[in-house]
Amino acid sequence: KSPSMSPELLSHALCQANSVAEQMQMLVDLFELSDSERSTRELLIALLQEVFNEFFPECKILAFGSSVNTFDIHSCDLDLFLDLENTKTFQARAKNSTEQAGEGQWEDARSEDSILSDMDLATASPAEVLDLVATVLRKCVPGVHKVQAVSSARCPVVKFTHRDLGLQGDISINNRLAVRNTRFLQLCCSLDKRLRPLVYTIRYWAKQKQLAGNPFGGGPLLNNYALTLLVMFFLQNRDPPVLPAVRLLSAAAGEADKCITEGWDCTFPNDPSMLPPSENTEDLCSLLACFFNFYSQFDFAGSVISLREGRALPITGFLSAEEEAEGSAARAGPRLGPMTVLDPFELSHNVAGNLNERTERSFRQECQEAAKYCRSLQYQRKSAKGKVWGVVRLFTPRGASGGAPAGSGGGAGKDLVISIPFRPASLPEAVRHQLQDAGDRFRHLWFGKVCQAVGRVFEGVLACGLLRSGAEGARGEEGPSGVGGGNEMQVSDPEVVKQDAPAVCKEEEECDSSPHAKCQQGTKRRLLSQEGSPPPGTAKRPRWDPADALAVLNWRCQVWHKVWARRRKVRRELLKSGPGDGQPEGGGVELETQVTERIALEEGGGARGAAAALLEFGVEVGLLGGTEDTRAVLRFTPEEDASGLFQDLFHFLESFLPRMTEKLLERAE
Ligand code: ATP
Ligand code: MG
Repeated sequence: KSPSMSPELLSHALCQANSVAEQMQMLVDLFELSDSERSTRELLIALLQEVFNEFFPECKILAFGSSVNTFDIHSCDLDLFLDLENTKTFQARAKNSTEQAGEGQWEDARSEDSILSDMDLATASPAEVLDLVATVLRKCVPGVHKVQAVSSARCPVVKFTHRDLGLQGDISINNRLAVRNTRFLQLCCSLDKRLRPLVYTIRYWAKQKQLAGNPFGGGPLLNNYALTLLVMFFLQNRDPPVLPAVRLLSAAAGEADKCITEGWDCTFPNDPSMLPPSENTEDLCSLLACFFNFYSQFDFAGSVISLREGRALPITGFLSAEEEAEGSAARAGPRLGPMTVLDPFELSHNVAGNLNERTERSFRQECQEAAKYCRSLQYQRKSAKGKVWGVVRLFTPRGASGGAPAGSGGGAGKDLVISIPFRPASLPEAVRHQLQDAGDRFRHLWFGKVCQAVGRVFEGVLACGLLRSGAEGARGEEGPSGVGGGNEMQVSDPEVVKQDAPAVCKEEEECDSSPHAKCQQGTKRRLLSQEGSPPPGTAKRPRWDPADALAVLNWRCQVWHKVWARRRKVRRELLKSGPGDGQPEGGGVELETQVTERIALEEGGGARGAAAALLEFGVEVGLLGGTEDTRAVLRFTPEEDASGLFQDLFHFLESFLPRMTEKLLERAE
């Protein structure tokens, strides 16, 4: 059990389990804080309590958040709430007694006492109190570094690190609701044992897919609290429910449990044994799959997620409430967004209010992907051949599967490569004959033909715009050769450049699941980026560096229609309505061109150029290899792909482009 387990080791460990449920429990065991980590945190809290008591008499330091909400992981921060209520009372008492002792004495008492004496907590601003907290941390707590007051945050905090203990911490002073919702998460965990492994698994999945993380560093991502609420909401919506609606919990609470915090009803039973266990008997394996299914189909745009009610509420109700509240003294409604998840207690707060549409879309798409995978046998059954199975495949990092991180700028720089093997045999006899005399130039001339053909596939068959800029990144002393259908191309010294084998998906060989899953995995894996280390269980994949290419072209491609979608259907229709039966399924160049035209027409084609292109991306077309492993490669660099459109296009091009290119080469003159 190591705090810094590598993804490879984690994958290996999980694959040894015997069931998905066991894998999920294993994640908890591997990630949760160890006993010694817990006692270290407790010691630090005790030390802070002692120091702060010196300056803030009768204050309380309370831990909340992941250190104590039962969703702890090794690296989680230490969230602390400095409760100054008693200190305020203490100060008011002291003020009263000094005032009674005579006017002017209060001022004197303030300057003599601790540093708190310089501040009246009843009137000080949160920023002033935070500055004081920061000063105490800096000056009086051994081992504390990097102290920084962040007053501008929604919930102002003082951040610090404890170098020796390897801990990051936050101290807040206005966060009573968070202490209460932490208690609520603890309660839910004790209500049903399935919640914890589910949350750990989904948190790790979301982290790998760059959907959730620290909002300070990661852009508009889901925070862990919001993600946990999404899991709990899903569990409230099982039939029968795994967790009760918060409204029901509140109703089941006793008089002693009553709790109003900052004006919000935060009542729930403190003792979980008062509540009946869930009648739901679904196992973790199926619940995880159902989670992905649930959110892949969820109508985020039209609903508000309410854990209090335990169901989705129509967003329309909130729109009118917002209007009514306008100008009145009524409490403001939640900030509605692409994803609206109401806090179970602070009902005017959307915990996912920081998300943008892109993150919401990515979340839904990743859920769809995961749901698809969970339908395969690979997910459900341990591989008899020692292959990667179960939850492990859900954890492939997003960057490694070609998509753009949800919070960041997109897929720029991703190395998405399509390889076209050197097959001069596909050229007509006469051309081949002519080329063979050309010695080393043979490959370049073949490449020129390939570029011509690829250009025609984009422009002619798929009705895309292709901007051919001058060659960049070309090497060698020779000038542009002009080969390649009007493209400028520079040719370098045709020395043999050894490369790895062309990009092939080794994954198909590894699949041991149903044909459906096999196909999904196979095509998905082909999308693997060449960046970074390959995910566990995948074959080493080649990279190509333009610096190694014998020739490179730089193009920009604009796609105006979803030419990859519905092709099969449109093709079928065309064949049915066409004059004869001569057209083979899969289509020739003409048929495919017609398919595109039909798609463009149905999408309201013709307006191209007026509106912005649906997709725009760079394509580097390179000639690689020596005498034996010559090939043309196309590297795609999408600007951003939050919508996943590029990924779909790339998916389609992977088989379509080489096939069509080949057909056009066969006709080359
Ligand atoms: P981790 O620190 O591992 O990311 P965490 O649950 O501690 O997980 P933090 O962002 O540190 O997450 O937040 C600490 C606590 O503050 C949460 O557990 C939750 O109780 C509360 N909290 C965080 N974000 C919100 C929010 N948007 N609305 C309400 N409470 C929140
Ligand atoms: Mg935290």
